[in-house]
Amino acid sequence: LDDRDGAIWLDGRLVPWREARLHVLSHGLHYGGSVFEGERVYGGRVFKLHEHSLRLVASAREMGFTLPWSAEELDAATREVVAAAGLAEGYVRPVAWRGSDTLRLVAPGSSVHVAVAAWPWPTIFTEGPRGIRLSTSRWRRPAPDTAPVRAKTAALYALGSLAGQEAEEAGRDDALLLDHRGRLAEATGANLFLVIDGALHTPPPECVLDGITRRTVIALARERGLGVVERHMEPAELARATEVFLTGTAYEVQPVTAVDALDYPVGPVTVALREAYAKAVRGEESGGPARGAAPAVA
Ligand code: PMP
Repeated sequence: LDDRDGAIWLDGRLVPWREARLHVLSHGLHYGGSVFEGERVYGGRVFKLHEHSLRLVASAREMGFTLPWSAEELDAATREVVAAAGLAEGYVRPVAWRGSDTLRLVAPGSSVHVAVAAWPWPTIFTEGPRGIRLSTSRWRRPAPDTAPVRAKTAALYALGSLAGQEAEEAGRDDALLLDHRGRLAEATGANLFLVIDGALHTPPPECVLDGITRRTVIALARERGLGVVERHMEPAELARATEVFLTGTAYEVQPVTAVDALDYPVGPVTVALREAYAKAVRGEESGGPARGAAPAVA
């Protein structure tokens, strides 16, 4: 990933891709003082760009540091990178980290760096809903008083990385993480939805990431008159679900065809929402406000 042509926006200017480096003594590398976003480009435009920029700013605040750029400036930087790459369909990775001025754990005045990279990534909608298979992980999403669960911070992704690796070693596509109390939480990089009696049921964003795709899909479902219930669920509820799907910037609306020993069809609710989302990302449907409504954090 580091050896390619192109440009990355780093601390205010575009630099050659291969020169976008950081020092080995960066706080962000040692102590998790790093936050990031994952965004998707459809037809040359970043879907929900401003919400992502706002979440990056909020994640940094949650981690005790302030970004040297406003959400509006991050929007502009992102557009600059996407335009420079001439991207039509792609992925964007903004990242911000505490610099190498000190290796003290407590680094109130430390420098903060920001980078934005973008590269081609074709949309998965053209491939059709294949569906993915999950296995429940032994790793759990921590409680809000145990870890900064509302921030999209590198510090938390050790868990997702471990859980995902374990699932892949077991021959599954992804892991389902429970929360600290053993309730259904989310996948390694996506929020979880169950379809029960025709309505959507999804865990509240207490110790799972408050996904922007999750919000979009909830809005699209409500526009279609579907019931949406945000509530805590025990794993036993998986047996009641007729469909299960995941939502995320990278996953889009991804059908789940198995969780452990339970199998699910790619059902009509999932297919309808998947199609609605595919239109929304291209601006053909509202899918909730494109700007303004800031996520609570994370
Ligand atoms: N949960 C986790 C842990 C994630 O990493 C992501 C991806 N950012 C999501 C949920 C989905 O969030 P979004 O829809 O904003 O991409």
